[in-house]
Amino acid sequence: MAARLTPIPLPTPFRIGDVNCVVIEADVLALVDVGPNDPPTLAALEQGLAGLGRRIEDVELLLLTHQHYDHVGLAQQIVDRSGARVVAGRALSGFLARGEQSLEDDDAFAELQMHLHGVDELTIRTLRDRARARHPLGSSPAADIVLDDDDSLDLGGLVLRALHRPGHSPTDTVFLDEQQGRAIVGDHLLRHISSNPVLHLPIGAPVAVQPRPRTLVTYLDSLRATAALDIVEAYPGHGSLVTDHRALVQKRIDGHEERKERILGHLAAEPTTVRAIGQELWPKLPVDQVYLALSEVVGHLDMLVDEGRAIELESAGLVQYTRA
Ligand SMILES: [Zn+2]
Repeated sequence: MAARLTPIPLPTPFRIGDVNCVVIEADVLALVDVGPNDPPTLAALEQGLAGLGRRIEDVELLLLTHQHYDHVGLAQQIVDRSGARVVAGRALSGFLARGEQSLEDDDAFAELQMHLHGVDELTIRTLRDRARARHPLGSSPAADIVLDDDDSLDLGGLVLRALHRPGHSPTDTVFLDEQQGRAIVGDHLLRHISSNPVLHLPIGAPVAVQPRPRTLVTYLDSLRATAALDIVEAYPGHGSLVTDHRALVQKRIDGHEERKERILGHLAAEPTTVRAIGQELWPKLPVDQVYLALSEVVGHLDMLVDEGRAIELESAGLVQYTRA
């Protein structure tokens, strides 16, 4: 009998809403992603496991898809209670190994990007304080089993191939069950929303890393690689199962093409900043979405620069764009 996969939706204090923890019942009991380090999330996880006749103490392996709080936050508590071994891709293991410092560096990188792209001081300070306040929702357990791209993990009755799919973050990993055509995809591919290509510090890089990572270009490459896989059912980090991954990937690629053309429409001969374009596109954007909007716009501008349709200029610590 095939190993059973059961997603348990867990509440989060984030705008995204519930996050899915996928319970894997193979010879080994494993969880993939566990939600933020927040008491209501833990209570929901305990309840969900009880519904399967399981307890947190029974968990033997904990697989993590990527570095975001809403996926790794409870990991340390679960390890402490169960002794579960943590499984992570190479990039995520590097992120976890540096603990709180990884979060600090990533915050500092985001702050630098906001300065470079024309975000005002007050917004930067507000976002920096909010980011810091979120740190306790995370955790940084050491990875006991580190998987390189295309490594396999045998859970007994289920073999998962780990595929590195950076873009939404530098650490995204998809776990593929080739035999049954099932994949656990984290936030790499979501049904109800387009995953943000969040501008993060590359793992192990200095905060002032040059050149800046090109997250949307990377993400689209990752999506194309996933579209080439044979998948019957994809289990995402949020929302319902994906049963038409190729069509969904195409929809995401088309959506980014459209947004790119719209952003080109906001470029002129006169230089403009990413922040100004973001404000024209989304005039009523809440402050907590400013960095995600910046990541989106920067990503599309990278594509336009590659295509020779936009020009990036930098002077006195400010990056601006013009039409080519
Ligand atoms: Zn995420």
